[in-house]
Amino acid sequence: MARTTGELKPLGIYVHIPFCRSKCEYCDFYSLGGGRNNSLMQEYLSGLLQHIRESAARAPGYLVDTIYFGGGTPSFFGVGNCKRILAEIQRRFRVARDAEITLEANPDSVTPRGMHSLVRAGFNRISIGVQSDSDEQLRALGRPHSWNQARLAVENARIAGFANISIDLMYGLPNQTRESWAQTLRSALALQTQHISCYGLKVEEGTPLYDYRDCVNLPDDDAQADMYLYAVSTLADYGYQQYEISNFALEGYACRHNLKYWLGDEYLSFGPSAASDFAGKRYTYRADLETYLRGVSGSGENLLSECETIPLRERGGEYLMLRLRTAWGIEESEYQTRYLMPFAPLEQQLEQYAEQKLALRTADGRWRLTPQGFLLSNQIIGTLLDLQSSSHPIVR
Ligand code: SF4
Repeated sequence: MARTTGELKPLGIYVHIPFCRSKCEYCDFYSLGGGRNNSLMQEYLSGLLQHIRESAARAPGYLVDTIYFGGGTPSFFGVGNCKRILAEIQRRFRVARDAEITLEANPDSVTPRGMHSLVRAGFNRISIGVQSDSDEQLRALGRPHSWNQARLAVENARIAGFANISIDLMYGLPNQTRESWAQTLRSALALQTQHISCYGLKVEEGTPLYDYRDCVNLPDDDAQADMYLYAVSTLADYGYQQYEISNFALEGYACRHNLKYWLGDEYLSFGPSAASDFAGKRYTYRADLETYLRGVSGSGENLLSECETIPLRERGGEYLMLRLRTAWGIEESEYQTRYLMPFAPLEQQLEQYAEQKLALRTADGRWRLTPQGFLLSNQIIGTLLDLQSSSHPIVR
């Protein structure tokens, strides 16, 4: 998007922290489990600081308005380390006064004192991995914390001064029923956070859960869909607006950083496996800590697993794919003007989806998916992408 902040262009910064206390059974993010390794963590901290220092010179015309520490488990990496990284970003980049600065935390690796320290350092949003209010379900997922720890972490975050708290929940878990999911939602709502993410459990190949998936009584697709729609309507009843397939927020608390990914804004990332979309290029660092450390220390090793300039037609496809995940949806003139592709074939298809109650046209003329449409979003978006690729560009 070509939004500007004065003379400066807005930019999001993502910092990937590839350390966890232990690996969860379902996780396919790039992170190392197996407990603390202080010397490796210190090495990573030095590498990151150096990378941040060197990269800042590439972004003189930007104003950083969101910073997001994700992982992995940033809180397990340590409050002091995270503060040093944030301070380096603030020293090297131009950071907006009202920047949204988020840290992902797990309930077992944040203390009340640590949270106070984070707030004093400038973190103003915390995203806590809660997942379930059932200790049995948490154990089945291999999560390193209990529900009580999660509840206390949210309480402590509020006491420390976080006025923008998000929690992650998961549905479709081993032995989970619609009633136990409803109970998790009730427990979560009682925490009164500003933001709630709800993710369906995906059994990814290569994870431990994949190997024994048939032995753990996983809810089937219909049961997962039912849990999803139940969450959408329950959260709406409590004032949480669904602004993306899996994300719900009270008015004014949509995650500004994650919106950059979905709305096509620029972001610059650091750390192994982290992806950037910056200055017209999309690139991803290799998902390997050793390679990353050698690369940033100037060994000449190629840090990137991919790097490409995205052609306009493909950007148009991404617009469809990402925007239709959100409540903002897509719009004819926006699409045609930016990507020089005709909207009419898409609109005909969207009208059919509207008849099936999978899509709707908003009062201001935009098209978005309904919650039922979100459930079939892969299929719907696939069809729209096929229509896009068989259309001819508009000649001006
Ligand atoms: S805490 Fe998060 S990143 Fe770490 S293993 Fe579990 S799911 Fe993966």
